[in-house]
Amino acid sequence: MCGIVGVTGSKRVLAILTSGMARLEYRGYDSAGIACTEIESGGHQGAASLLWRKRTCVGTNSVARLTAELGDKELGDGNCCQLAGIGHVRWATHGRPDIDNAHPHFDCNSEIAVVHNGIVENYESIKSQLVDEGHKFTSETDSEVIAHLLESFSSSTKEPIKALKALLDVLEGTFAIAVLFKHLPSDIYVVRRVSPLIVGLHNGIGLVASDIPAILGETRQVYSLSDNEIAIVRPDSISIVGEDGEVSDPIFRDIQWSLEEAEKGGFDDFMSKEIAEQPASVADTLRGRITEDGTILLDQENLSKDQLREIDKIFIVACGSSFHAGLVAKYAIEHWARVPVEVDISSEFRYRDPILNSRTLVVGVSQSGETIDTFQALKEARLQGAKVLVITNVVDSSMTRECDAVLYTRAGPELGVAATKTHVAQMAALYLLAIHIAQSKNVLYPEESLEIVNHLRQVPDLMAKTISLQSNIADLVHRLSNQTTGDAQPTGNRCRRFFYLGRNVGYPVALEGALKLKEISYLAAEGYPAGELKHGPIALIEPGVIVVAIATRNRLWSKMLANIEEVKARGATVVIVAGEGDEESIAKADEVILVPRVPHPLLAPMIDVIALQLFAYHFALVMGNDVDRPRNLAKTVTVE
Ligand code: GLU
Repeated sequence: MCGIVGVTGSKRVLAILTSGMARLEYRGYDSAGIACTEIESGGHQGAASLLWRKRTCVGTNSVARLTAELGDKELGDGNCCQLAGIGHVRWATHGRPDIDNAHPHFDCNSEIAVVHNGIVENYESIKSQLVDEGHKFTSETDSEVIAHLLESFSSSTKEPIKALKALLDVLEGTFAIAVLFKHLPSDIYVVRRVSPLIVGLHNGIGLVASDIPAILGETRQVYSLSDNEIAIVRPDSISIVGEDGEVSDPIFRDIQWSLEEAEKGGFDDFMSKEIAEQPASVADTLRGRITEDGTILLDQENLSKDQLREIDKIFIVACGSSFHAGLVAKYAIEHWARVPVEVDISSEFRYRDPILNSRTLVVGVSQSGETIDTFQALKEARLQGAKVLVITNVVDSSMTRECDAVLYTRAGPELGVAATKTHVAQMAALYLLAIHIAQSKNVLYPEESLEIVNHLRQVPDLMAKTISLQSNIADLVHRLSNQTTGDAQPTGNRCRRFFYLGRNVGYPVALEGALKLKEISYLAAEGYPAGELKHGPIALIEPGVIVVAIATRNRLWSKMLANIEEVKARGATVVIVAGEGDEESIAKADEVILVPRVPHPLLAPMIDVIALQLFAYHFALVMGNDVDRPRNLAKTVTVE
């Protein structure tokens, strides 16, 4: 994630940069920084150009603080002498959110300033080579290599385009990059691969941004760079250099969105935007962590393979949706790595005297890395000598400072209170961990783990396909909402009862689906392991009850079909989540949600849960609820 802004040719460089950055804070706010070119005071002919930067790191208020600190510079009255500037709000992926890691990054001579969005996958090898050549690094980020590489390439070729092309040849990963060169004070050079970047031109002002809201106040005409394109943005022109070296003018498109619409990327709310971002969240979480031969590399891992090999018991400790991700992982770890796993609600684990020792691995899963119950549980586990690994979406959050190893999810900031993209990213991280433990223990043959990894790599495309089927789910929800519930029941959704049933990995999916419905639709929903229904809850099944059954094929699929028959026989309306073309499952359904078939049954939760998020989302809309801010909930729970 993170947000980039650039501006050249305006007398309000600082004002445009800071207001654009404030509008991109939904992409990250770990720190904020800008770099600007200026002409030496007086601006006489032959005056030297200057390049300076200013950075702050105070969390949510970083842009406001930066703006206040710039107060003594002219922010908007037109008397200032900045020629061009680039700005960045950071969502840390590599290196703590501190001032040294804040962008822009400089080369050794402070003549090149770089802001970067994305991940440079091969930064470690590049960095060690550059250090050997004498470059001095001042941050822990992956991004800083870009400034030093450009320094190195620029010393051999004085042409920025050649240097940027050489950069493209070397960098692996995803990036949107904006660069200022001190000796070209009015030009901004930008380049991208995968991470988004747009440019615009209006009334002699050249503009750059990660996303439309940042520059919507200045222009409604933008051009989105394609992969590996370079753009030279000047006050009165923009040139695009294609992958083949051809230079062309950009063909701008008109933006009709209001500012609010633009912040949500054209979606009606952040939740649907974040549901749509899920394939990217999983792809980013997998990125750079799987080698060619299928070996899993975990970042910031201080647990040696020997220590992992010794582990004979794993506890996964989490709350809410993270707990459900942990339950999915139990099936994967036990199946692939053959280590017993217990999944615990953090607030219970903490107080129940768990038996831990140095061969125990406690895995804490928390979106924020701050959830108080999980945090305290991990501290307790460490005190008792267990190894602790944290899976979180927030770099340098409290939990990451109290553990032996960290595996970051890379979902970007999540604004919807009900977890969606962070939940699937947690599952992806936990699958990686499961394979990693299996590899450390030599439990899987290399070809087996390679096969699983290849299946995992296919998941983001299947997720995208699931999201594309959304209109079917919306239609289904409307049909169910208009359905009368029989004489015995009052009509109306509010009085309806929902049961979500699943077996094997379908069981945690059922729990998560029911949780989503409760959170945003305020409808009474229970998730159950389908085999447990007969031990009590089946007494509640009657006409009018909706049963959502996860019937994608896993090893207990045929038993699941039998459980579906049991609730049908008692008059429930059965909505079945089934794999495309699975006629046997479809035949049992009153209503069906079709999802793409996954290549490995243990990976199905990442697909099935999306269908249930969409199901809950459309019910919430029908109920007229605010999906982004459900009542009574907080995004990060820091009280017991
Ligand atoms: N990888 C870079 C960092 O950690 C950029 C992250 C981002 O896109 O916000 O600084």
